[in-house]
Amino acid sequence: MADKKKIVMNWASACGGCDVSLLDIEEKIFSVLDIADILYWPVAMDFKRQDVLALGPGSIDIGLFNGAVRTSEQLEDALMLRERCKVLIAYGACACFGGIPGLANVSDRAGIFEVAYHETPSTVNPEGVNPQTVCQVPEGEVTLPKFSDTVYALNQVVKVDYYLPGCPPTEERILDAVNIIAAYAHSGELPPPGTVVASQKALCDECPRVSTRTGTRIARIKRPHEIIADPGLCFLEQGVLCMGPFTRGGCGGKCIEANMPCRGCFGPTERMLDPGAEALSAFGSIVGPGGEDALTIPEMKAAVNSIKDPVGTFCRFTLPTAIINRTLKDGRNKVKK
Ligand code: SF4
Ligand code: SF4
Repeated sequence: MADKKKIVMNWASACGGCDVSLLDIEEKIFSVLDIADILYWPVAMDFKRQDVLALGPGSIDIGLFNGAVRTSEQLEDALMLRERCKVLIAYGACACFGGIPGLANVSDRAGIFEVAYHETPSTVNPEGVNPQTVCQVPEGEVTLPKFSDTVYALNQVVKVDYYLPGCPPTEERILDAVNIIAAYAHSGELPPPGTVVASQKALCDECPRVSTRTGTRIARIKRPHEIIADPGLCFLEQGVLCMGPFTRGGCGGKCIEANMPCRGCFGPTERMLDPGAEALSAFGSIVGPGGEDALTIPEMKAAVNSIKDPVGTFCRFTLPTAIINRTLKDGRNKVKK
């Protein structure tokens, strides 16, 4: 007989796709309800944060936390769930590595406010107002969470027990996580701490195009929209940057199947410290002709500049957890893990 577990699902700095992915498992969500009671899921159920705050330390079995940590409220949520959940799972790329919201670390609070509230063509803000944490209105005082300078992955602010990567996690991997919860409910057993619910190998290992990879140099980098890619040929052979060699497998090659290169949403494999840095280094050594025709320094700079968005290309999902994880303004705001 299963010991029904208490589960919560929290949404932080994210697009909402992780919450939707849980619904994407369709009728299989009922198998979750067989083994667990969902106590809190703001996007889908009418429970309040106060309900969770009223629970004592360790009184929730499993917390699923999706989204990166950007605001003071999201940090409070992370601390609230860490204190109350026996097991905390980083759900999706944003919680695991910072994700797309983490790309904001190329700027800071002031820079983001400047663009969002002053510079964009659609902004009408004649009084130059920025969001405030406290504001007096005729009806009383209204408050907003503080928007911090830096986006953090969940494990940069609290201890994380397991990781379910993906943007969003795929149905198969969510069901793996459900099976872990089921085993926990039936036998109390859990995988080793730090387990990533995905493949232990790189995506290329499960890509049907890998046999066409010859390792030849890329004469010129092409962006995906510049060619109609040959669906039978490795993207790298076609001059299109693919993060497959630097990304953990387990998604089943969803993007490759749709004839798009991998962008890295499953994050690094266990043996990879910084997938963006490794990709940049590897691509730097294979772009342009080799041997006597090797590029001169100006030609190399031109080749590097032909990559339109290097941070978005190489660190799209992992910037907050990268070695160089934000721009430096005055040398004081470097994030350390
Ligand atoms: S680099 Fe991309 S296209 Fe090539 S084998 Fe790896 S995942 Fe497949
Ligand atoms: S192919 Fe890459 S970007 Fe696409 S789902 Fe898989 S890991 Fe994510």
